[in-house]
Amino acid sequence: MLSITLMYTTGSILEVLTSVKVSISNPHLEIQNLEYDSRKIRQGEQSLFFALKGLRDGHLFIEDAYRKHVRNFIISDRSFIIDPYAEANFIWVEDTLCALQELAAFHRQQFVLPVVGITGSNGKTIVKEWLYQLLSIDRRCYQSPKSYNSQLGVALSLWEIQQEHEIALIEAGISTDGEMERLAQMIRPTMGIMTSMGIAHAEGFVSKEQKFVEKWKLFAHAEMIIAPSEAVLPGFRDERCYLWGRYPEDKVYIQDVESKSDHTFVHVRIAGVSYTLTIPFTDKASIDNVLTCVTFLSAMGYTVSVIQERIVGLRPLEMRLKLKKGKNNCSIIDDSYSNDLASLQIALDFMQQQNQHRDKSLIITDFIGVRWNDKFKHKLVSLLNAVSFQKIILVGENIREIADDLRATVLSFADTEDIFSALHTIDFANETILIKGARKFGLERLSQLLVQKTHDTVLEINLKAIEHNLSKYRQRIQPGTKLMAMVKAFSYGSGSFEVANILQFNKVDYLTVAFADEGVELRQGGIRLPIMVLSPHEDTFEDLLKFQLEPEIYSLRILRAFIAFLEDRSVGHYPIHIKLDTGMHRLGFMPEELDEALSVLQGTEKVRVQSVFSHLAGAGNKDFDTFTDRQVNLFRQEADKLETTLQYTVIKHICNTNGIVHRPADHMDMVRLGIGLYGVDISGDELDLQEVGSLKTTISQLKHLSTGETVGYDRSGVLYRQSRIATVKIGYADGYDRRLGNGVGKMMIQEHLVPTVGNICMDMCMLDVTDIDVHEGQEVVVFPDIMQTAKDIGTIPYELLTGISSRVKRVYYYE
Ligand SMILES: *Cc1c(COP(=O)(O)O)cnc(C)c1O
Repeated sequence: MLSITLMYTTGSILEVLTSVKVSISNPHLEIQNLEYDSRKIRQGEQSLFFALKGLRDGHLFIEDAYRKHVRNFIISDRSFIIDPYAEANFIWVEDTLCALQELAAFHRQQFVLPVVGITGSNGKTIVKEWLYQLLSIDRRCYQSPKSYNSQLGVALSLWEIQQEHEIALIEAGISTDGEMERLAQMIRPTMGIMTSMGIAHAEGFVSKEQKFVEKWKLFAHAEMIIAPSEAVLPGFRDERCYLWGRYPEDKVYIQDVESKSDHTFVHVRIAGVSYTLTIPFTDKASIDNVLTCVTFLSAMGYTVSVIQERIVGLRPLEMRLKLKKGKNNCSIIDDSYSNDLASLQIALDFMQQQNQHRDKSLIITDFIGVRWNDKFKHKLVSLLNAVSFQKIILVGENIREIADDLRATVLSFADTEDIFSALHTIDFANETILIKGARKFGLERLSQLLVQKTHDTVLEINLKAIEHNLSKYRQRIQPGTKLMAMVKAFSYGSGSFEVANILQFNKVDYLTVAFADEGVELRQGGIRLPIMVLSPHEDTFEDLLKFQLEPEIYSLRILRAFIAFLEDRSVGHYPIHIKLDTGMHRLGFMPEELDEALSVLQGTEKVRVQSVFSHLAGAGNKDFDTFTDRQVNLFRQEADKLETTLQYTVIKHICNTNGIVHRPADHMDMVRLGIGLYGVDISGDELDLQEVGSLKTTISQLKHLSTGETVGYDRSGVLYRQSRIATVKIGYADGYDRRLGNGVGKMMIQEHLVPTVGNICMDMCMLDVTDIDVHEGQEVVVFPDIMQTAKDIGTIPYELLTGISSRVKRVYYYE
């Protein structure tokens, strides 16, 4: 059945899909890649572009894809005009996502290998990654990349299965009823794994039972199902089930669990024989995940001694691709736990999107569990050459074979030790370094050497969550409405060009900073979007010009000063933004000043009003609706007057985050999105935002103290019982407000809330951990509920976020 190389052409794809209309100029074009995001196209010639109807209509990006040499398109819009794309093939279908899935399903059907479908609520990704690690030792294994587990992600994952693979691990995630059947149709797992059912994502389902029934649908055609017996509803236990748990009839019967300080003994009985497994973890979630892997390997026929040998090597996966500040002004993209083509591609995309430095370097290891042949090498080389790397460092025996084909300065090392000893001779400065390696090479140690030393407290920023939140607000505005993203105050505490880059990549229309120097930093970080500066100072006019920053003009004084500054320069029509005060009474022209401002503007060619705007003082509060109406009406009148007088149209905007949600009729030409972008839902409107920043620290020391002792300065933390007290390295100098002392503030350790005890010190504070089981070095989440914490000390989340001091390292990740 299988041809030696599985090759698709436009013609063969046409046979697979249910099309409604076609326009084919060349049916023989070879197709290798499936694309849906024109920004990510790298090898357009061999790509098939699907115009998906997502948040943004994919048909709008056909032009861009065509420019990037794509010549094959799957579209659904019947009236789409194809004339400008004379060389391209077009296939019309009813639904482009369904077509992509149809193709993925077809591709998967070409293989007879075991396909393992993995679902469950918790631990899917980790079980998949661990199994990949455990199986790669003696099989060529394919795993779906990162958490590509959605309707789209699964289809793209399946497409990557190749002839050489001997087993495929595919993760399937669903959030509501009805989604699993489509995934099951595509994946057709021959084996199924259900991980723990936990409580995650229960929201989209009526009940736990319903959730189970829905997930189980993945296994409709599976020949064997691995699951914890407690998760499987009674009616569903059939002869296909291969379960682990506490019932004597379970295939892997757990007799006893014995916790040690850094590992756990699990006494099991498999096929009537008792064994003691040593599991290198102590937390329940990890133990459950290891047992799932053990049961799977046992079902595959591995002996207990082989299983034991392999599982001792498991480590907690730091699965996130991370972006960190490196030494010598470098940026480090650390993705050092896996190496396969799909995850390489994700890392390259991320690097491109973050575009932090002109110079880029790559450190990359051998690929494990792939057929290292010419075809693979060719694919790898063309992926790498599509990015202009300054230097590429190859680590491993195999990968050095591609050295001569790479367009970069290449250094090769046989193994990680070699590069360690040579590291001091390699010059890294002012560049982005991508570290991409298979786990066994242990490149994370290399990353530690290149990264600036952090103190134990970090603010983790999830850039993907920013994308998510942006799309939530985009759904609230009309397609033609522009979006200005507020990145003032270090992006509400989350970072400057890292955040701006993600916004630029996601095509917001404008960025706004508070001061000129923030704008300068963004320009130096490669940000090309127009940038508005809220509080321009006369001393910074030179910078505004030099870095193309657009000032907010809020008074006659600053208007005249800026025009005067431009007088002796050969600049005309410089974009400015006129701020009107309609009731906020902060910055802005008062209504009685507008006429004079307009006559100044009429008398000059030096500036051009790009936009006119005002700021709402209470858009989030129903009690102020009448006041807000007044502000909006006044603004509309004044903006009209401005346009009539100047005789050109300008962008008009008044809504901030609250306005976007509560004043849909007043979005006008543009909205200004601030705090909502950073995941704080102040509107109380259940927008399903994702948390962007997570401030974390660790326990430095634990103490047992007796009743009557006191903790901290001024002896204010009096202990009324025998207590265990943890000292953590965060204090008011880091932005942990002193008002949070003496039990007002609560931090979270593993799901448990623990109160502060005593006064907050400058660099540290103490927590009462008497009631929970903790150890030194353990992670502590500082603001588990930022809305509540803010309320407890009579402030707002904005102050807490922007108050996190700059000495707290920001670590970015994208997952
Ligand atoms: C900060 C700011 C915003 C954004 O406000 P959010 O409440 O964070 O959405 C909008 N416009 C102006 C002028 C601002 O200063």
